[in-house]
Parts: sequence; C-alpha cells; structure tokens
Amino acid sequence: MPHKFQTIIEPFKIKAVEPIHFTTREHRAQALAEAGYNLFLLHADDVLIDLLTDSGTGAMSSEQWAGMMRGDESYAGARSFYAFEAAVQSITGYSHVIPTHQGRAAERILFGVLCHPGDVVPNNNHFDTTRANVEYRGAEARDLVAEVGRHPAELHPFKGNIDLEALERTIVEVGVDKIPLAMLTVTNNAGGGQPVSMANIRAVSELCRRHGLLFILDACRFAENAWFIKEREEGYADKAPLEIAREIFSYADGCTMSAKKDGLANIGGFLALNDPPYDNERYRDLPQRCRNQLILTEGFPTYGGLAGYDLEAIAVGLREVLREDYLRYRIRSTAYLGEKLLAAGVPIVQPPGGHAIYIDARAMLPHIPPHQYPGQALAAAMYLEAGIRPVEIGQVVFGRPTHDGSPETPSHLDLVRLTIPRRVYTQSHIDYVAEALAYIAGRREQIGGLRITWQAPVLRHFTARFEPAKG
Ligand SMILES: *Cc1c(COP(=O)(O)O)cnc(C)c1O
Repeated sequence: MPHKFQTIIEPFKIKAVEPIHFTTREHRAQALAEAGYNLFLLHADDVLIDLLTDSGTGAMSSEQWAGMMRGDESYAGARSFYAFEAAVQSITGYSHVIPTHQGRAAERILFGVLCHPGDVVPNNNHFDTTRANVEYRGAEARDLVAEVGRHPAELHPFKGNIDLEALERTIVEVGVDKIPLAMLTVTNNAGGGQPVSMANIRAVSELCRRHGLLFILDACRFAENAWFIKEREEGYADKAPLEIAREIFSYADGCTMSAKKDGLANIGGFLALNDPPYDNERYRDLPQRCRNQLILTEGFPTYGGLAGYDLEAIAVGLREVLREDYLRYRIRSTAYLGEKLLAAGVPIVQPPGGHAIYIDARAMLPHIPPHQYPGQALAAAMYLEAGIRPVEIGQVVFGRPTHDGSPETPSHLDLVRLTIPRRVYTQSHIDYVAEALAYIAGRREQIGGLRITWQAPVLRHFTARFEPAKG
C-alpha cells in the first residue's frame, strides 16, 4: 500500500476543469421526448454525468498534453512514431507496430487479410465491431465464453475465460483450415468487462501452438486485466502490472488495440504482430500484407490515420495506464459504485468488471416485459430523474423486430451499462449516481415500458425512436 490509510483517493489533482451542465427535470423531460427516449440522440450539454462509454472519454494527463505539443507531424519517419512504437514494443514485445485511427481499423485490416467466407473465428466474446468486421468478410464470429460468464449473478474471479473444451472441439470440428486465427478479449467487454486469467491465456496459447493457429489478443483493456490477475490469481500479487502485461502478450502472436480505452487517449489504436511462427502460405508476410492494407485506407505506416500528437499522447498513456496507483484507483472506484448499488437493492452483474457496472434491468423492473425494453426504460428514467446518461445493452441492441406484430423474442439479458470514463469523475460524482439510483429503485413501479416508433434495419440502438407504451 502507498500509505497506511484505507481510503483510496484519486491518484491525481485537477489542473483543468470543465463545467458540467445542471438542468431542470422539466428541461430533461422535453429533451428526452425530443430525442425519442434514445439517449444517443441527446445533446451532450444536456447531460450532467455521462456514463455512455469509456471509449475516448478519458481525461489526459499534463504529460500527455505536453507530449502533444512535442508531436512531430512529419509525414514519414516522425519522431512521434518511434516514441509510439517503443512504448507499444516495451509492453507487448511484438516486432511490427502498425498504428490505426481506432481499434476497428486494426480489426478490418487483420480480418481483411486473414478471413474468408465460411471461416470461423473463435473468441471468448466478440465485441460488436469485432463481430461486424469478421462477418463482413463472410466468416463466422463464434463466442465461446465459459459457462459461468453467461450468468450475471454468479461470482467467479475470471468470468471472461474462454471455454477451453469448446475451443478444442471447435478446432477439431471446424478444422484448422477454416480457422484463420483464435482471439481472446481482455477484459471481456461484451461479457461485462470480466477478466481472463493468465492460466486461461496460457492454455489458449498452447492449444493454438499445437494446431498451428495464430493467436491474437483484443487488448483494449489489457492493463485492467493485468490488475485483476495481480489481485486474484495465485503467484502474481507481488508482480508489477507491466510485468504481468508482458507475460499476457508473450503468449499471443499479436494484438488489436483501441487506444481509446487503456491507451488513455481520445483517439487511436494499433495492430501489433510478431512474424507468425508458422511457415505456410496463409501466414506468409502477414505484417507486410497488413501494412499494404494500411496504406490503402489509413495512411503511411508511420502515422496510420493519426496525427503525430495522437501518437505522442498514446505513447505516454500506455505508460501511465500501468501505474499501480492508477489501476488500484480505477478498479476500486468501479467496484465502489457496484457496492453502493447492491446496498441500495439494485441488481448488478457480479462481480463488478473493470470499466463499468451493469444493472440487470429485467430483474429490477420485472413489471416491464422484455418487448417493452426495461433497460431502455431504466436508462431514460436515470436521465429524467438525475441527468445521468447510461447505455442500454439488451433487448434494443440484440432484439429483432417481428413482421407480424407479435412481441419480439426476448434477448438473453436486459442490461444497463454505467461506463466509467477514465480519470474524469470524482468520488462525489459517483456518490451522486448511487444516490440517484437508490431513489429510482425506491419508485421503480412507476417506471413504464416503451415501444419503438421508428428503427433502422441494422444497429437500431443508435437511432431508434421510442415513446411510452400504453397500459
Ligand atoms: C472499443 C473496442 C473495440 C473497437 O475499438 P474502437 O476504437 O472503438 O474502434 C474492439 N474491441 C473491444 C473489446 C473494445 O472495447
């Protein structure tokens, strides 16, 4: 411990402040109606506490801003690229570092080179852009998270683990020729931000080696995952997060990364690769083929769709994100919100993940049937009562409209995600969120369901419009 007291304080002081906007309930009622009860359609200035996402919403440090002033905007061979490359290599050890404008660009390039129609890509849970990029290539994105990861109320230290037997079965049944790579997402975002154990990562690595398969990490929250390993897995308590992260990366052949998460930057990403350890046509010159794709849509290999100052911000962010005081505060402050909600009788996915708390809206609002979107209704109520903007991850995201007017088939879960931006809100902001939810939980019967009045054919959650359901 850094000192002898129990209170875990924010490991920073605040140099620049940004006002947040207080509004009246009446104003919010009107804004909500104008947005068709879809919180994506609100003006951010009408939001008091924004928990929509942790992606690109973090606060940068004074060192990162100083780095931005040092940014070298040379088209080719910029100093900032070499600082970025060195930062990525010192953590991952991978020899080829390919900058991209976001994580999904790294995915598109990698799957564009490796995946073909009829292929299968196994993962614990594919994040939605990962799934979309696999499917865009005509391949199947197969989720193989361990059974315990599918049950929100069950406690387990590593609910993000992949089911190793299911992975081996998939490799045998589908055949190595139809599996261009295997992936693991750390932490498992689509599965509640749950961590993957080192033992699981090592086992996937061994399995892939045995079958000659490329193993790629979706490393967006690698530092948070490293911290969970330090806290929960035997043998890691005395290791530094950097050492743990290096071991994680050592088991894989490369990674895709969104620097908007554990890069502590507002934009950016990368694809990092070793030369594949297998000598066959499929993997020959893989890094070079990826760079060729990069030039086509992202930019020259030493900037890849980013400004020199973005590369500097990420280089510094990657070092800061592995600091023990930061990670202790980060994971503890998320758990703190979870504990307060549980104490207020709000059902959440257990145990709290790294970057977000997920409320089980179907359990909290049992009087609202899934086809009246309890998650969306709870999210709207949080905005109306308290100016808080969470995001629904449930029936609206996963449900599909019916064409005969019958109710939609219920999705697996109806969750509301409270995503914590990095280094942005203080403990009193979080206390306010917990108090607001306790208030809403106390009058939950008064929250009514919603119906959709308009929706797009794909990814409807971003733009759908709702109104209060009758009855
Ligand atoms: C955010 C995210 C991505 C995509 O990254 P973008 O920078 O948003 O394109 C991929 N995988 C996971 C697990 C993510 O959380």
